[in-house]
Amino acid sequence: PLVNRIPLIAGNWKMNLDHLQAIALVQKLSWSLKDARHNFGEVEVAVFPPFTDLRSVQTLLAADKLALKLGAQDVSPQQAGAYTGDISAEMLAKLDSAYVLVGHSERRHGHSESDELVGEKARAAQAAGLVPVICVGETAEDLETHGAAAIPLAQLAAAVAKLPADAEFVVAYEPVWAIGSGEPATSEQAEEVARALRESLRDLRGDDVAAATRVLYGGSVTSQNIASYLRQPNIDGALVGGASLKADEFSRIVQFKK
Ligand code: PGA
Repeated sequence: PLVNRIPLIAGNWKMNLDHLQAIALVQKLSWSLKDARHNFGEVEVAVFPPFTDLRSVQTLLAADKLALKLGAQDVSPQQAGAYTGDISAEMLAKLDSAYVLVGHSERRHGHSESDELVGEKARAAQAAGLVPVICVGETAEDLETHGAAAIPLAQLAAAVAKLPADAEFVVAYEPVWAIGSGEPATSEQAEEVARALRESLRDLRGDDVAAATRVLYGGSVTSQNIASYLRQPNIDGALVGGASLKADEFSRIVQFKK
């Protein structure tokens, strides 16, 4: 089927920028993108600030005509109750978060999150009306022992298994060795895994879901290499870390030309 997947450029701020700095960045972004506004609709742009910034950024976006979307970096698998330190999907939805990352490698590796937990987080997000961005990727060691695709495919299957049949989700392929390293995967390497992920979506969810689901690449994306990824048939956007913290660089990425 011919499906037009609108590219998604997602800025993952990680643990950077307090709420005042967040306001300053979104204002600058809004300024640099104001002439590009007519292009919005051809590309979707979302920022993923720390929890403490969400309310401030939400207020700013609501007051602005800029069609930036909001996402969070993590979510509790639980709905509410005695879970000290956790943030529920319902709370994020109340702040107009459209998206939430689940299973980012810094959660899987830094906080020992299992495939099972990542799936439960995706499920909690989906149940509250958020679109989970399921992050998958192999470490350098995995790459040597299993090749590039095996681990991402297993991570995707485990997460998707927890989602109902009609769930919308985004997949972000981020090789762990490429994150924050300045050593991105080549566009051919990224495309190969993106294609394998889409093929496995066909087996897991059927042709329509496989054709409609966006697969992003992440790992040392910059304004210099963004176009090379977007030219690949199975890559529908990018999850951008470091380069999303600077308004001019992120707006160049958003305005990529294939
Ligand atoms: P990076 O991070 O762009 O700084 O490599 C990407 C990510 O971790 O999402």
